[in-house]
Amino acid sequence: MAYQTINPYTNETIKTYDFSTPADIEKALTLGYGLYKKWRDGPVDERAKILHKIADLFRQHEDELAKTAVNDMGKLIGEAKGEVELCAMIADYYADHGADLLKPTPITTRATGEAQIEKHSTGVILAVEPWNFPYYQVMRVFAPNFIVGNPMVLKGPSNTPGSSDAFGKIVTEAGAPEGSFTNLFVNYDQVGTIIADPRVQGVALTGSERGGRAVAKAAGENLKKNTMELGGMDAFIVLDDADIDQVADIAWRARLYNAGQVCTSSKRFIVADNLYDQFLTTLKAHFAAVTPGDPMDPKTTFAPMNSKRAKDKLQDQIDRAVKAGAKVYYGNEKVDLPGQFIQPTILTDISKDNPAYSEEMFGPVAQVYKVSSEQEAVDLANDSDFGLGGIIFSGDPDRGARVASKVETGMMFVNNFMTSLPEQPFGGVKKSGYGRELSQLGMMAFVNEELIVKAQKPDLSNPAGGLAVV
Ligand code: NAP
Repeated sequence: MAYQTINPYTNETIKTYDFSTPADIEKALTLGYGLYKKWRDGPVDERAKILHKIADLFRQHEDELAKTAVNDMGKLIGEAKGEVELCAMIADYYADHGADLLKPTPITTRATGEAQIEKHSTGVILAVEPWNFPYYQVMRVFAPNFIVGNPMVLKGPSNTPGSSDAFGKIVTEAGAPEGSFTNLFVNYDQVGTIIADPRVQGVALTGSERGGRAVAKAAGENLKKNTMELGGMDAFIVLDDADIDQVADIAWRARLYNAGQVCTSSKRFIVADNLYDQFLTTLKAHFAAVTPGDPMDPKTTFAPMNSKRAKDKLQDQIDRAVKAGAKVYYGNEKVDLPGQFIQPTILTDISKDNPAYSEEMFGPVAQVYKVSSEQEAVDLANDSDFGLGGIIFSGDPDRGARVASKVETGMMFVNNFMTSLPEQPFGGVKKSGYGRELSQLGMMAFVNEELIVKAQKPDLSNPAGGLAVV
């Protein structure tokens, strides 16, 4: 597919970008690998300074970066600015804490001498990223790996090339050495070529199950470490003692933020029967109150979807769900605007054999289920191939946390909106992928945790009874 910005509100093709050439790829890998060799054993101070500068530049250029993202994929301008600020926070976090997080960890061992685990870079990392947060997704991989000393090449999404390009320009403007970050406009075959290259030692993908399978397969064939941040069918559980006013205030946001195109959007609302009717009434009121329109206009509160393709796919999913017996409680009417809008929609009565029960709907469609016990809520939440995030509301936060622990997922938030912050690990289980990004856990994704055992002199007494020579 061509790398093209088509504004999903005006439907105007703004710019088409040329594909990278084999020479561009070779240059990126040569420069990146050279930097890896140089950085591997050196201090991180210089890179931390550059990362702070990158954070500063994200803040300074907030308006134009936000506009670029809006043109690329149609998110609300206010949400785009929030994304830019989050990128700056992530860059600052790794600049401030990177050196500490990379300190060797001493370990106690029966072997003679002192032992520690050192943390070294491993090589060039390929990041394959989606369009829904065109800066944040990239920063989640770039910032920690830049501090670790792993240069990065990016295969960004074909529909948000303006944002990928802008990210690269900020890194350059901050004074990062050439090869630290290279944005490439490559096709799927070239992704395979990059993964196979021995200078590349890791692959991070965020995207769909389809993209994840293809890239994980190529990584597996080449024995390259990889992390997969894939889709979700996150549950939003409302227990019978929840404060419905609090729930109402968060539930619609948890579904409609970024026009519902968030991996951790609440896609399945699982509501205790005593609160079910009230929940539906309030969710409908909030869905009906949004203002669709130009995402550049700060008064607009509901954005178009990122592309015609995404809109058509979601409409087809709604149609199939209804055909299979789901009821439209609210929405599913045409929005009389030129952009790629799907009206916020609420579906109920979704049976287990309905395709909607198990398919991720990546847009503003809420599925609402009624349950009659805490256990039924947990069972329904866990009856999914996915396990990324989730939200739970209870009048007793401790009860909420206890139930949250029973949900098979990577992240749960009790009595609050789900947030992503640099110090919190992000990632899931089951078909939502493996590995974590952000926090200390994410930073270690492509680190060689190298064991160094230091003795004063050889000792063959082998007191531990282990193998002396392996
Ligand atoms: P996608 O189609 O898988 O695309 C993601 C990236 O993978 C894009 O750069 C895409 O390039 C590339 N790609 C896809 N197939 C490929 C292949 N066979 N070989 C090489 N590269 C390939 O996903 P999407 O539809 O853009 O993103 C939405 C999905 O991402 C949703 O399922 C969402 O839940 C998930 N997501 C997960 C997280 C998380 O952290 N877990 C965060 C955000 C989104 P092209 O654009 O050129 O196709």
